[in-house]
Amino acid sequence: MSEQQPNIVFIMSDDHASHAMSCYGSRINETPQLDRIANEGMRLDNCFCTNAICTPSRASILTGKYNHKNGVKTLGDDFDGRQMSVQELLKNNSYQTAMIGKWHLGHGGHADPKHFDYWTVFPGQGDYHDPTMIEMGEEKKVKGYATDIVTDKSMKWLDERDTNKPFFLMCHHKAPHRPWDPDEKHLHMYEDIDIPEPETFNDTYEGKAEAVKEATMRIDRDLLERDVKGTPPEGLSEQERKSWLYQRYIKDYLRCVASIDDNVGRLLDYLDEHNLTENTIIIYTSDQGFFLGDHGWYDKRFMYEESLRMPFIIRYPKSIPQGTVSKDFALNVDFAETFLDYAGIDIPEEMQGRSLRPILEQHRPENWQTSMYYRYWEHLSVEHHVGAHYGIRNHDYKLIYYYGEALGASKAIEEYREPEWELFDLNKDPYEMNNVYHEKSYQRVVTKLKEELQQLKERVEDFE
Ligand code: CA
Repeated sequence: MSEQQPNIVFIMSDDHASHAMSCYGSRINETPQLDRIANEGMRLDNCFCTNAICTPSRASILTGKYNHKNGVKTLGDDFDGRQMSVQELLKNNSYQTAMIGKWHLGHGGHADPKHFDYWTVFPGQGDYHDPTMIEMGEEKKVKGYATDIVTDKSMKWLDERDTNKPFFLMCHHKAPHRPWDPDEKHLHMYEDIDIPEPETFNDTYEGKAEAVKEATMRIDRDLLERDVKGTPPEGLSEQERKSWLYQRYIKDYLRCVASIDDNVGRLLDYLDEHNLTENTIIIYTSDQGFFLGDHGWYDKRFMYEESLRMPFIIRYPKSIPQGTVSKDFALNVDFAETFLDYAGIDIPEEMQGRSLRPILEQHRPENWQTSMYYRYWEHLSVEHHVGAHYGIRNHDYKLIYYYGEALGASKAIEEYREPEWELFDLNKDPYEMNNVYHEKSYQRVVTKLKEELQQLKERVEDFE
């Protein structure tokens, strides 16, 4: 049995948007090492998270469940490791398991990593330089740069593993999360060039929900001195000042990405050198997307495309055709099921997603998902002040409901807002600039999507 079970290397970064990867057509950077995975495997163009924020997305990946089921609705909720998880099922079925890098699901009690033969993680968000790590419960200071350290420790664990058993390695980078501190090697990258501003950089939010206008994640207003490592020079116009802040922000973000790219290359080389490439499924993803100046923002949380979309590239030479692209919907709640499927382990009934294997092997079932359910719970929390919302996205439209209440979620602020809706016609308006919810010609679409949204809520059993 174990001879046929593939190894799984799951590389996940934090806040890496797909539009900062050249295999996704980035206009702002090159990621040659990440592109190797896409070129030698498959790129998913419609992979989405079900809640665009760190901790909840991580919990969905481990459990194959939506946040109202796994108990991690916001950054304020710790993960209860006593619940079923993919690493437990893999470990119980002959896999060696390791969790290295960013955990961000809480510490102590039942929140520490469980069912990993080896784990070493950053406490909370972790630091970029000389970070503290908690290794199997013991705190240690580690010299170096976080992205290099996570890769080094991953390779060391691979060196020391039992080669008679398959392995499941979660290699989780802290980068490129705020505060975007690059390493020495990439510190001067992009110094002599201007990074292009995104199409929606000067979105005025006209016609959009008040919740959108209220959010505090604007490049021109909300970035801190710590984020951009300085203050704009005197005498700039408002627009020049915004551009200056953007350049400072995006360059450091991309420098952090460049280090990830190098380190993914090191790991790919390691697999090649150790004859592991053929029998290893390797994935690169991020816990959600990110606004890279899009809509004038940084951060995530909203159901808008840049934040909702996860990069997802996967290589498994034995079964995934090279250089392929899929536009079928894939969700973070589908990852656990996919690993189990490839490992030949039964997928528990309580998992809510579906194995992506048929999509990856280009045999899409007739009844494959064509719409997805999203929910952000952290109503108006101090950081970024984004109103709670849920919604539906299909291949043509996105309907978002800002329901205006905290509903008791942790970190959410109990302040009422008038409920609001947004509808975007994704074919005509891929950048989501025009909210057409109130337009007469879209009323049939609205009615239909509201019905579908209700059905999705019932299917995932989210009754709140
Ligand atoms: Ca994140």
